Amino acid sequence: MEVDNKRRHSEDELKQEAVKKIKSQEPNYAYLETVVREKLDFDSEKICCITLSPLNVYCCLVCGNYYQGRHEKSPAFIHSIDENHHVFLNLTSLKFYMLPQNVQILHDGEVQLLNSIKFAAYPTYCPKDLEDFPRQCFDLSNRTYLNGFIGFTNAATYDYAHSVLLLISHMVPVRDHFLLNHFDNQGEFIKRLSICVKKIWSPKLFKYHLSVDDFLSYLKVREGLNLNPIDPRLFLLWLFNKICSSSNELKSILNHSCRGKVKIAKVESKPEASESVTGKVIVKPFWVLTLDLPEFSPFEDGNSVDDLPQINITKLLTKFTKSRSSSTSTVFELTRLPQFLIFHFNRFDRNSDHPVKNRNQTLVEFSSELEILHVKYRLKANVVHVVIKQPSTDGNAFNGDEKSHWITQLYDNKSEKWIEIDGINTTEREAELLFLKETFIQVWEKQE
Ligand SMILES: [Zn+2]
Repeated sequence: MEVDNKRRHSEDELKQEAVKKIKSQEPNYAYLETVVREKLDFDSEKICCITLSPLNVYCCLVCGNYYQGRHEKSPAFIHSIDENHHVFLNLTSLKFYMLPQNVQILHDGEVQLLNSIKFAAYPTYCPKDLEDFPRQCFDLSNRTYLNGFIGFTNAATYDYAHSVLLLISHMVPVRDHFLLNHFDNQGEFIKRLSICVKKIWSPKLFKYHLSVDDFLSYLKVREGLNLNPIDPRLFLLWLFNKICSSSNELKSILNHSCRGKVKIAKVESKPEASESVTGKVIVKPFWVLTLDLPEFSPFEDGNSVDDLPQINITKLLTKFTKSRSSSTSTVFELTRLPQFLIFHFNRFDRNSDHPVKNRNQTLVEFSSELEILHVKYRLKANVVHVVIKQPSTDGNAFNGDEKSHWITQLYDNKSEKWIEIDGINTTEREAELLFLKETFIQVWEKQE
């Protein structure tokens, strides 16, 4: 026992001596060559892998792990000695350090490698950068991608949120506000959301796709996101309201860009009067205009499930654009058409036992342009619903529950092409074929 203790004691002494020696040396900038950018991932939760603390966390730029501290005995310090890894990035201040010497790397702006790492952790833009967006970019493995039109990992859990983040990232006034400003003095929610938008538009991604799992789990744990069921419309409304309660500047941008108004008048027919009389009138602001689809029973009238009904979008809009007809008791009139008009196609009866299986599958026909009350609009984004069949316990796919999956189609003004984003994959699509899927949300932009 005594011998063991002695040996341990002398080992500790040796280690301490080694630490002293390393610390007294000048930091060796040749260590920058040990940095492996392919191992770095700034999307994941920023906590120390040893203490699980979110405070004072550094990323080891050699192995990509996160460690706390910088002082002696801190996990980062010990890691630098145990693993011989010496270059670290503070994830809050974005300053680089050599450990265990505990020396800041000055003039990091002159080192291209460090610049690219800083940009990956926190992209920054000037107005000139935005002029040629989107553009063809390359990730570290030389895979091409179009910035702004990127896919996400973990679509099985968060596809509804991916769609919404892409939609708001493609509303130019909203996008520009997020890209061109810093949000250090704002609350955590706006800060984190801004980083998501900044990364979506990054021309220098290390990987051609992103993960927003950390942002979503933050929303659930810290911001009370608790929607069940959840779909892109419900999440969009939740997010817009959250943004408005968190930032006055963004609230005014959203109000200006996306808030429409509809006048709703109850019409009462009085037997003694030859004409109906307008009763109570209210003006209601909206973020999303819900369009009801006609009822359809697939197995009636000789229809089969392969013979789905179609309806033109202009027909669905007549509720809001036609002057009153004698049969209606409520009249809707659009009184403010915003720059971005967002439609929701009402497919799900949430009171149904199987809302996905029993959804309204009517296809909506549309072209890329639309005139509403003499105002011209162009289609910018289309979120479509597809079904993933989950096999039931007896192995019969037909009896299993059906699960919704969301795919986002975005228009690129520059190339005049449509890009479909499904999980991490992006594919070009023909504009004429977009309506062949169950459209759920559309964003239309007013044309000058
Ligand atoms: Zn390491």
